Amino acid sequence: MSNFEYKKSLGQNFLQNQNIINKIASSLTPSKNDLIIEIGPGAGALTKELVKKECDVICFEIDKRLENILNKLESDNNNLKVIFEDFLKVNIKTYIDTKKYDKLYFVGNLPYYITTAIINKIIKESTPYEIVIMVQKEVAERFNATPGSREYGSLSVFLQYNFKIEKVCDVNKKCFEPIPKVDSTVIKFKTTSKYKEKVKNEDKFYKIIKDSFTHKRKNLRNNLMNYDLSKIEEILKKYNKDLTSRAESLTIEEFIEISNNL
Ligand code: SAM
Repeated sequence: MSNFEYKKSLGQNFLQNQNIINKIASSLTPSKNDLIIEIGPGAGALTKELVKKECDVICFEIDKRLENILNKLESDNNNLKVIFEDFLKVNIKTYIDTKKYDKLYFVGNLPYYITTAIINKIIKESTPYEIVIMVQKEVAERFNATPGSREYGSLSVFLQYNFKIEKVCDVNKKCFEPIPKVDSTVIKFKTTSKYKEKVKNEDKFYKIIKDSFTHKRKNLRNNLMNYDLSKIEEILKKYNKDLTSRAESLTIEEFIEISNNL
């Protein structure tokens, strides 16, 4: 965009490649009575495609300098509402409870450092059907990492516990203006209750995961020393593991069994 001073602090790299924009838009297949929430529409490149779907679209953009462009798009499209707020500070319920929507879709291309906060917020304040989000390529690899791999960590366990994760497409850095340092990947998170049904106490489950990964180089005996270690050892034994194992070798099922038995 000429004459626009892109703000690095807001992760402002705007998509220019129509093929990629179309791929992201077509990865969402809402029905009439669904709602799409777009976080960080920027100059509206993706928004223009989203409003072609027959459902309502609500966008949250933090940068008021984009008001002219986005307000124009809003007045041209009856199904679009643009809110100029920091998404992390809004109360999502205020916007989704205005109608009785069937399914909730979230889509966004945001700076990595707020991606986890955004996903946490979405899960806490709503029941998303799908979340389609663009992140740095290496970060995407962490989301779907398997036990034993270098990228596997508490974030992988947390996300795979809540969602079925699929890649939509890779995005070359040249597809943006200005061109960022790294390539990106678009990821789709589809809410699943596959594991949720098995967990007795979710807060406890989340705490065990967090504690298990506290010091990446330390083993479970050290990271979980404030828990009943003999009980944990008993469970690990069933899986041919012991307290010298590290958190990165444990599957979600194993974490669930530990948290359910403590
Ligand atoms: N979706 C557009 C595109 O693909 O061309 C813009 C993407 S750009 C990477 C990120 C956008 O998110 C920017 O417009 C930025 O101002 C906005 N943004 C950053 N932090 C935000 C926040 N906390 N709440 C809402 N919007 C935010």
